[in-house]
Amino acid sequence: MENYVKFLKSVDEDLKKIFDYQKEYLFCKEGCSYCCKRGDYPMTGLEFKYLMSGYEKLSDETKSIIQKNIEKAKKSDRENYICPFLIDEKCSIYQYRPIVCRAFGVLTEDAKGNPAFPFCATLGLNFSQIYDKEKKHLSAELVDKGRFKVFPRIFRLNNRVFMNLPLAKELNLDFGEDKKMIEFF
Ligand code: SF4
Repeated sequence: MENYVKFLKSVDEDLKKIFDYQKEYLFCKEGCSYCCKRGDYPMTGLEFKYLMSGYEKLSDETKSIIQKNIEKAKKSDRENYICPFLIDEKCSIYQYRPIVCRAFGVLTEDAKGNPAFPFCATLGLNFSQIYDKEKKHLSAELVDKGRFKVFPRIFRLNNRVFMNLPLAKELNLDFGEDKKMIEFF
């Protein structure tokens, strides 16, 4: 686990640069937890193990709330459920959260290489000022109109990209199986 923590430190540093680069487009509001209420939260076995090491440190009361949330999530739509670790609008295992949560909000690309907006763009949040709601696409016209200092860059950020980073090999990380959070329970 020690090597994974080292790896995460480096990932967080890289993500900070990416978020800094995109800060003109990011409108996360304090207390907003939309991204923890709608998703399937894919992660690897190693990420899940680390997440659960954080869970083990929680009080019995908090663990019991999470267990009830897990049961609820299991009964809901497996593609879109409220993360069981979200309590009172806050992540109960924040320091131990998986990479998908660390990277959420960045403008990424879909399988065809097109810009993939975080879903909160449709809620007037991240990247909404350059998102054409009708065409569901990046609008160069809106970028121009917004007089942004930087053109929004698209980052390839999915679990595979992180797993294949040279540092992961250097640290000999075995990520294990990649699946939706709920499938680990
Ligand atoms: S693990 Fe934490 S940050 Fe990630 S979706 Fe759940 S509550 Fe949100």
